Amino acid sequence: MKKYAQILSLLAANLAHAKVDLLIDNATIISPINQSEVSIKTNHWVSISNGKIIEVSNNSTRPIANTMIDANGLFLIPGLTDSHTHLRTMPGLLKTDNDAKKMQSQFLKRQGANYLYYGVTQVIDPANTAQGIAEFNSHSFSPDAYFCGAMPIYQGYAAQGIKYQNLHKQRAYYVHQHDDPSHLSTPSITSLHQAKTAVRRLKKDGAICAKIFIEDGFDKAKNIRLINQESVKEITSEANRLKLPVMVHANATDMQSIALQNNIDILAHGIWNWLDEHQQEASLANSLPINVKRVANQILKKNTYYQPSLNVMRSLTDVMVPGHLNKNKYKTVLPNWQLDWYKSPNGQWFAREMLSGWKAMSHQQKFKYMQSKQTNGKRVLNYLYKKGAPILLGSDTPPAPTYASQPGLSTFWELRDMHHAGVDLVGLLASATINNAKAYQLESKYGAVLPGKVANLLLLRSNPLTSVEAYNKIKSVILHGIVHERTTFHINNL
Ligand SMILES: [Zn+2]
Repeated sequence: MKKYAQILSLLAANLAHAKVDLLIDNATIISPINQSEVSIKTNHWVSISNGKIIEVSNNSTRPIANTMIDANGLFLIPGLTDSHTHLRTMPGLLKTDNDAKKMQSQFLKRQGANYLYYGVTQVIDPANTAQGIAEFNSHSFSPDAYFCGAMPIYQGYAAQGIKYQNLHKQRAYYVHQHDDPSHLSTPSITSLHQAKTAVRRLKKDGAICAKIFIEDGFDKAKNIRLINQESVKEITSEANRLKLPVMVHANATDMQSIALQNNIDILAHGIWNWLDEHQQEASLANSLPINVKRVANQILKKNTYYQPSLNVMRSLTDVMVPGHLNKNKYKTVLPNWQLDWYKSPNGQWFAREMLSGWKAMSHQQKFKYMQSKQTNGKRVLNYLYKKGAPILLGSDTPPAPTYASQPGLSTFWELRDMHHAGVDLVGLLASATINNAKAYQLESKYGAVLPGKVANLLLLRSNPLTSVEAYNKIKSVILHGIVHERTTFHINNL
């Protein structure tokens, strides 16, 4: 035993003297523990080698480092995880535009840098494939990217308008149901899309979760085929067996109720569709209507991860606001050609679509209606957060073809809106770091400033436990142990 201890201390001494790649000294190290606790260390240093954190220490003997940063006056936090991003398409793209292909490829080349500019060093796309992620990673700067396998059903949400014959080509993990027109497909394809088989396949392909859609139409509409109970049960039981979290698209009280009955792990949206309950604007802290509270209490009881995705309704509202694109912050992530195109008649297509089909409502009434949905979402978040539900940062960028949802910037606005809804700054940091890492089983790699984790870190010029604006005061982004000044990722420098 004594000998073993000697070897250990010898190893530790060697570790202290081994040359490391990077040493960050004198920063205030803020490492989240959970939604209400955070560790704050001053007079410590962090050593990094081979893209990983090696040591966090206040030992006066510092290792020799290839690069040393004196981070006096700066705050070191884990890089942010946005657990709801769609990485395949330029927001608001009109696919029939003459320049669509060119615009799309230019956007994809720099999308990762947009996320990094706002400190997002990990992204999760809940509806992608291994091939899609490889493509995302092939561009020069990119956050670490993960995907979930999306499991829509024929004619269901996220697969509407796709012919049955083509479904397997466009939706790699769609789920076959017994009343599908399977005579239009081959038995071998149908068997690959049995619920359990599809879950096994997506896990094998590298997905970190399975995503299902519980949606029968926006708000009170019932015009979308709803997944049947049998499929939900098969997916969740197989995913549980494979230790794969199940993420569910649902944003109305009735749909979230179904999700919760099935013990799913992550709710991909907040509850903003309250159906029969009143939806008038009111103070965020007002008590919730009884049916909404019933669903919220289920979330609390089951300790389900809740991704408020406030930016869905925010970006669907803002696309209708004249002059919205003149906001200065867009100039951090959008080049002039893209801004100009968005303002052109073709670029306005989705804004026109959002503004049409409301019968006799005035513009003012439309905004009010959309704003009431935003308020609903914030009120539920306020209630859940105060009672301790685990909250996740997920911006759902873009949730629809809206240009008011841009990579990175939307993540920052999501943080700002969550804070406005009542999530305090300790909880906010947790939602963007440790909570996402836990929910998606990435905790061995991300979520805290601790030895063994991937060295994806941010150096901030101001304290994120004092103001949400600190997330827009990033000095450097450290990606796998390599230090990049934030300005590198500014659109003017790409
Ligand atoms: Zn989404």
